[in-house]
Amino acid sequence: MPASIYSDNIREQKTPPRPPEKPQLLSEKNLNFLETLKTSYPEFTFKPGRKFLFRPRKSIFYIESDENFRLLLLHELAHALLGHFSFDKSLERLQIERDAWEKTRELCETHSIPFSEEFANSELDTYRDWVHQKTLCPSCGLTCLEVNSESLYCPFCQKYQRKA
Ligand SMILES: [Zn+2]
Ligand SMILES: [Zn+2]
Repeated sequence: MPASIYSDNIREQKTPPRPPEKPQLLSEKNLNFLETLKTSYPEFTFKPGRKFLFRPRKSIFYIESDENFRLLLLHELAHALLGHFSFDKSLERLQIERDAWEKTRELCETHSIPFSEEFANSELDTYRDWVHQKTLCPSCGLTCLEVNSESLYCPFCQKYQRKA
């Protein structure tokens, strides 16, 4: 085997190619909006993350490239402002989401961002499906009563079931 192959490889290992520069994923409009929110709500920290998420008590995460960036950012801010720190039952989660979307509507007005009823409803539908899935009886498949964060009561089987 020619020595040059070895030396080439070694050289490559010593000087790896420079990583491509991190592209700026936030559009100018979104970047400005983010700066406005940081100034208006200094009690919270805004950080890029893998999804839009409010982590109690102070952190709001966002995805830089999302097409609904401003709306979703206001939605997480709504959770933060409403103090949504915990929930016990799936149904409470649904109520929390409903409240947060109401608050998002207000925030949209305050910050002159178009609110999308359709988008809010489709997000809520995702939670409705999720709650529905969570409350199905593992034995018979009927919808159960939610007793607490761990258990369900199936009126058909007449027994308590652990949540999936
Ligand atoms: Zn939410
Ligand atoms: Zn059942």
